[in-house]
Amino acid sequence: MIPHFNEREINGLRLQLSKPNNISIVMHYKPDGDAMGSALALYDFFLAYGHHVTVVAPSLYPEFLFWLPGNEIVLNFETHQAEAENCLLHADLIFVLDFNDATRVEGMQHALLQSDAIKVMIDHHLQPTDFCDVTFSFNEASSTCELVYRFMFAMYADYKLSLAAAQNIYTGILTDTGSFKFSSTTGDVHRIIAHLIDTGVVPNEIHEKIYDNFSESRTRFLGYCLEQKLVVLQPYNIAYIAVTSAELKLFKHETGDTEGIVNYALGIKGMRMAAFFTEQDNGVKISFRSKGTFSVKALAAAHFNGGGHLNAAGGKSPENLEQTITKFIALLPFYENQLV
Ligand code: 5GP
Ligand code: MN
Repeated sequence: MIPHFNEREINGLRLQLSKPNNISIVMHYKPDGDAMGSALALYDFFLAYGHHVTVVAPSLYPEFLFWLPGNEIVLNFETHQAEAENCLLHADLIFVLDFNDATRVEGMQHALLQSDAIKVMIDHHLQPTDFCDVTFSFNEASSTCELVYRFMFAMYADYKLSLAAAQNIYTGILTDTGSFKFSSTTGDVHRIIAHLIDTGVVPNEIHEKIYDNFSESRTRFLGYCLEQKLVVLQPYNIAYIAVTSAELKLFKHETGDTEGIVNYALGIKGMRMAAFFTEQDNGVKISFRSKGTFSVKALAAAHFNGGGHLNAAGGKSPENLEQTITKFIALLPFYENQLV
């Protein structure tokens, strides 16, 4: 089914945007390709229509996204808090992209909720919470970038897509579909991709920037994880990797370095679920992935204070690494009939 933006809400936004507005665009903590791509594509779109636009990220994001057109204007809330708060406070509109619960912006939550701006959510995660004035939530969409693309043309059918917006949108669809692999990759998604390529996007260049751009230490870290840290629990068809902060330090860890490693664990024949545990200062961050019908979103939401999608979710644990893994393993018998 093609996501369809409610006409009444689109008309209301068109009216509001018929004069120049102050617009802020925000996305979730530790933004990924879809979060940054959708934000910077929308930034380019609103600039083209004469608005004053800022993009505020709740935290730093991986270096392999720094090439995205518009990257230089992104304000990092953690390093430029006063300036970022000022943008949110003085915005007429705030676009909330690629998340659906205010807690997902972590420390920026207060500033976001405090702002009187009209808040518009565009997102594809399950079960949005009600903190925006307008909520465009389409769980079946491949990515927020797909939705931003559809939003642009729902707003102005004659919009002329720029190369900058096309490159940003391509990046988000690419990364959120696992390179056009996940079941959300429909014919319509490929038709959008065709339009992006016709606009001037060069796929191999973007793939190289995203996937062939690791530091030497990150590549060695991957090898270390797979050779030394991988645990396979055959009876449950699950595999996991857990890394300590000392190990992250040893491999000169930078934001984004752990991303994607969980997929190697899931890639083992027969595995239904994989997890990646990262020790942090105040607990443990967990990435979950699954194949088929096993819902890692449900697991993350029920036990690890998290959420996400059916086959890709994340969560946190306030306990230490060892306790977190013990808890995880103790849960498996309860999910046995879904995993085996
Ligand atoms: P990742 O494992 O790549 O960090 O996240 C996978 C998916 O789970 C993403 O769609 C992300 O939005 C979601 N996710 C990750 N961490 C959390 C979390 O702490 N809470 C919630 N609700 N979702 C999360
Ligand atoms: Mn997304």
